[in-house]
Amino acid sequence: MDAAVLVEASGLVKEYAGSGGRVRVVDDVSLTIRRGETLGLVGESGSGKSTVARMLLRLVEPTAGTVRYDGIDVLGASAGEMRAMRRRMQVVFQDPYAALNPKMRVREILAEPFAIHGSASGVERPLGEMLREVGLDESALERFPHEFSGGQRQRINIARALALRPEFVVLDEPVSALDVSVGAQVVNLLKDLQRDLGLTYLFISHSMPLVRYLCDRVAVMQRGRLVEMGDVLAVCEQPQEAYTRALIGATPEMPGR
Ligand code: ADP
Ligand code: MG
Repeated sequence: MDAAVLVEASGLVKEYAGSGGRVRVVDDVSLTIRRGETLGLVGESGSGKSTVARMLLRLVEPTAGTVRYDGIDVLGASAGEMRAMRRRMQVVFQDPYAALNPKMRVREILAEPFAIHGSASGVERPLGEMLREVGLDESALERFPHEFSGGQRQRINIARALALRPEFVVLDEPVSALDVSVGAQVVNLLKDLQRDLGLTYLFISHSMPLVRYLCDRVAVMQRGRLVEMGDVLAVCEQPQEAYTRALIGATPEMPGR
């Protein structure tokens, strides 16, 4: 396998049992994500974006297909191999409110990944430093999630996702629940963190302007299938599919930095 490729999915299918038989929500999706790049995954709500991402991370078991992570067969991995891989891949979800346990202080939230993965992780870092890295002050450590705004909570989620120094992060609509200006600040933070830490991103969004701003390449999903994929500027300027043109036309402009 090409050493520049970190994630390689081939022929991914996911079916669920529905009232009228089996429903195929992801149909024959193949994609690669290169080290250090941001691949955008766009499509209307329900098109299968989150399901694809969850299959890459093996949070959802595919009905068919293969996933290789840094050359390792993810679906054939043993529990031990999977545990080691889990440290290298993380996810940030859309809803910054649901993702944080309201009963835990930020100190406990940030320390949790180290507790789960133990001293074997070998990367335990000062919690205050983890907060500063995402633009928050150390004084936040003793507070609870409800004391923060949506943007601040998403920063806490990002700090936690980066605790174990992963190399691959799935960003599943990380700013969709935030105001546009707050979301733009979080997107810029994600961009800075990628540059400083050499991260590889899968950025899921329904906003083409955001994808154009953040991503190197983009894959477009419609009803479970990939309908278009390519360099982000090429796809945004010369979309081949009417569906992609509609996505580009349907979203508000992203404010500049
Ligand atoms: P997106 O992230 O693009 O909005 P999803 O991947 O969440 O789309 O969902 C794709 C389709 O799969 C939707 O129709 C959704 O209802 C369906 N789906 C997702 N998870 C399940 C599940 N656990 N059981 C049944 N259907 C599901
Ligand atoms: Mg989704």
